[in-house]
Amino acid sequence: MRLVTTDAIVLRSYNLAESDRIVVFLTRSSGLVRAVAKGARRMKSRFGAALEPFTLIKLSFHERENRDLVTISAVEILKSNFNLSSNFDSAEVLAYMGELVAEFAPPHETDERLFRMLTACVEALAQQNGSERALTRYFEIWLLRLAGLFPDFRICGSCGTPVDSQANVAVDVELRLFCEKCVPVNASVLSSQLIALVRATHQLSPGNFAAQHELSERQYAELGDLTHRLITRAIERRPRTLVASTR
Ligand SMILES: [Zn+2]
Repeated sequence: MRLVTTDAIVLRSYNLAESDRIVVFLTRSSGLVRAVAKGARRMKSRFGAALEPFTLIKLSFHERENRDLVTISAVEILKSNFNLSSNFDSAEVLAYMGELVAEFAPPHETDERLFRMLTACVEALAQQNGSERALTRYFEIWLLRLAGLFPDFRICGSCGTPVDSQANVAVDVELRLFCEKCVPVNASVLSSQLIALVRATHQLSPGNFAAQHELSERQYAELGDLTHRLITRAIERRPRTLVASTR
């Protein structure tokens, strides 16, 4: 058995047997980890509030070879995000992020960039000085980008020419981008504002993007069309948590 100590963020948890819970974490050093929290359902659990969704903790666990589930040995709260879970809209956005990260993250494999991206999005949500809708789309685009599933929005997918931000460009069903000359039939044209928004997510932190970009209903829906298409294809189903606040 190997003892691992790492920063972790709680994605979700569910009951196991009479007094235990299974908790799903995204960790900085070990990717996605499923752990048994023994006695977590007792009134006076030693875990206290550390296993509430989206709490940032220092997590220690014992890893066993060939075992998917690890056993928690210690937890320490680094930042509680309890206020977020009690806000209805934020709670829905968090549940959505939690479901998708649990689907996309590699189990027991380091993905430092995904960890940093998720914690930065949660932090931006907690700061509440930006648009939740903008944050949701930012999160989706980066989740897809880090998984290598978001197309390059800088060049034409056919001829490779850099696509001018002013030009009318189009995407095909695979979301490959095309310049004006290469547009195939059945491609949908994207407005230059939409392209600019996608590029802004590439360049800004989630907090800055959400503070600087209040998406209109239409932009939110148009971007959602793109991201949900790719997400649904990647996980081979529609996310269960795709509800009013995230759709
Ligand atoms: Zn082209």
